[in-house]
Amino acid sequence: MQNSGEANFSGVIGMQALELNVNWQLRLVYLGSAVASMVNFVVVWLLGLPYLPVFYLGSALLSFLLSRRITMRWFLPAYLARFCLVACQSFLSVYVIGDDCGIQLYLLALLLLGNYIRFTKYSRTFQKGFMAAVCAACVICYLISDEVLDYFLTPLVRITEEAEIFFTVLNVTGSLALLIFVSSIFANGYQRIFRTLLQSNDKLQTEAGQDILTGLKNRRGIQPCLERAYRNAQKGVPLTVALADIDYFKRFNDTHGHEAGDIVLQQMGRIVQDQLGSWADACRWGGEEFLFLLPCTLEESVTHLEALRRAVEELAIVYRGATLRVSLTIGAAVAQQGDTVTDLILAADQALYLGKDRGRNQVVSCGSRG
Ligand code: GH3
Ligand code: MG
Ligand code: MG
Repeated sequence: MQNSGEANFSGVIGMQALELNVNWQLRLVYLGSAVASMVNFVVVWLLGLPYLPVFYLGSALLSFLLSRRITMRWFLPAYLARFCLVACQSFLSVYVIGDDCGIQLYLLALLLLGNYIRFTKYSRTFQKGFMAAVCAACVICYLISDEVLDYFLTPLVRITEEAEIFFTVLNVTGSLALLIFVSSIFANGYQRIFRTLLQSNDKLQTEAGQDILTGLKNRRGIQPCLERAYRNAQKGVPLTVALADIDYFKRFNDTHGHEAGDIVLQQMGRIVQDQLGSWADACRWGGEEFLFLLPCTLEESVTHLEALRRAVEELAIVYRGATLRVSLTIGAAVAQQGDTVTDLILAADQALYLGKDRGRNQVVSCGSRG
């Protein structure tokens, strides 16, 4: 018995989607940073402050460029660039106008951005070390700008009290807005990733239980149906198990080629769907063998299986100018008191081989066994 075809594990596509999703989040965060820098640029320019407008303009441009290009692969250098910008922004602002304007709060948003390290391929140890280093660096930069620089330097400009209040409100609002923006993108991104994962998991499960050549279930896919049919049979619901095998299929392959054989298997899948698809369970049991679970008595099952056998007999496949035909032998067994699923499949298999012995292209049923 050969394996019943490999499932197409398109869950891999899910992984690509995840990567694209995180890249998209990062770009949005850097775009938000660019906007914040641009707002600051306008304000410090309007206030006529030295150095700061040039700095904010450069910072906005760099963040904008990063927002166009950044992918998770470049997360570390891009993060370091952003960190240096925010640290310099704190130092420079304290140097120019003093430490009372809340500029250091922008460091908080940086802490959150650091969490994106979790999506990179660096080791867990590296990721933990990175987060610890980021926390330490943020605290140090905060203390330097808030305590040390303030102690050693006299601000270049004495801004008015109104300007200071305005600037503080702007920085508190701006940094908190940035923090909320980054955290909502982060949370939203996680939610999307989770949804993508669930979807690709569903798809993966379906594909893992499906045979791609015939479109029927494979052995894995029929397993829940077998368990359900067995439980129903124990409650008295009739159950017939049938095994079907294409006759002389090796010879068919040898004569007409494997490709023609594959077309036969595809057509078999279609015929099985047409005949049994809506009310019985069917699977490609392996190679050129099929298993059916029919929720009806042996007599009724034989009628349906006979119709299936005839449909296969009447199938004419035109392949490279020739009309090719195949036939099917089917063995069926009905569930009896105390039967396990394995007993039933074994009985159907014995009926199938009886059919092969009797000349093939027929349905053989196995009634009472004892
Ligand atoms: P019998 O009537 O006794 O069943 O004879 P048979 O030749 O059908 O039986 P056998 O088990 O010897 O051969 C089964 C063949 O099925 C062998 C293999 O080449 C073919 N087969 C199994 N899986 C595939 C498949 O996916 N594609 C094709 N083209 N052939 C397959
Ligand atoms: Mg076989
Ligand atoms: Mg065969």
